[in-house]
Amino acid sequence: MTQTNASRLFEIEEKVIAGERLTFEDGLYLFESNDLASLGRLANIVRRRRHANITYYNINRHLNPTNICYWDCGFCAFYRKPNQEGAYLFTVEQCVEMVGQAKAAGATEVHIVGGLHPTLPFDYYLELLSTLKKEYPDIHLKAFTMVELDHFKRITHKTDEYVLEKLKEAGLDSCPGGGAEIFDEQVRKQICKHKTSAKRWLEMSRKVHQFGFKSNATMLYGHIESYSHRVDHLIRLRELQDETGGFQCFIPLAFHPKDTEYAHLPGPSAIDSLKTVAVSRLMLDNFDHIKAYWVMLGKQVAQVALHFGANDMDGTVMEERITYAAGKVSEREATRNEIIQLIREAGFEAIERDTLYRPVMEVTQ
Ligand code: SF4
Repeated sequence: MTQTNASRLFEIEEKVIAGERLTFEDGLYLFESNDLASLGRLANIVRRRRHANITYYNINRHLNPTNICYWDCGFCAFYRKPNQEGAYLFTVEQCVEMVGQAKAAGATEVHIVGGLHPTLPFDYYLELLSTLKKEYPDIHLKAFTMVELDHFKRITHKTDEYVLEKLKEAGLDSCPGGGAEIFDEQVRKQICKHKTSAKRWLEMSRKVHQFGFKSNATMLYGHIESYSHRVDHLIRLRELQDETGGFQCFIPLAFHPKDTEYAHLPGPSAIDSLKTVAVSRLMLDNFDHIKAYWVMLGKQVAQVALHFGANDMDGTVMEERITYAAGKVSEREATRNEIIQLIREAGFEAIERDTLYRPVMEVTQ
């Protein structure tokens, strides 16, 4: 490292220690740095300041009611067109049965996201939530990305407020963070040109927060975007968080190219993933939690990511279909003991949380 690089990193380190906000240029410098150990060390300062030695996990189940979608995002291996081989739509009864199995396994949360079905009415989603809430009142329903909420507005021809009010009445508890992809409009035109725009994604998040729901935020990285697109994405999230405080957690999503339009790309390396977790922790100074989403990182990289700024391992997941669709490169679930073991092996204390990050069960050594 040249003296100039050393002094630039030292300058950033002083800001991190002082709790000062990092700039776009700082973020870009960190992404372009090859000093992975220093990135990890800096992110770990923030991670330990906020969460000491604790790493959270939860017992959850993913529920993807349908993979039928009228859009065609180039990075997505999950969607199918109606009548295409592999297309499916679960009935509400099937969903209730699946959640019942998860409840029996100790789940406290169901994470519900799916394709944008061309003909399924809004009432299906309302019935799904209200039936699940009636059957399992103590299960947290974290459902529907900003993209799905935008879809509901279009199919109902009503306002966002109407959609949110109806979902709230039906039992919605909070929203997941998917669909953000990369906010840069030019990249978005290439990878998901029909999808809800970045502006609309942020606007819907603002409304969700104003409505009193918490939500999460994601960033899909490792495809055609540049480092500056990633920093721009993080800063747009940070600005909205300044305004609403409604984001609970940021989840960097490693792109899985297999069986997508970008199958020729290699996808992000472990080094890139660790860098992204670290820079996210450093840039998002107003986000409490950074997740090492093991489904996309792989369990081993997720474990290392706990030393690069992440303080949450997500959960048992149970039957994840979206990443699994990308060439079955991911595992679909983990046991509670396996997650605890991964956290402990990395040198952290494992705390089971609910969706709102309240401890459910403290696990001692
Ligand atoms: S990412 Fe979502 S909106 Fe895009 S094609 Fe896949 S399921 Fe449809």
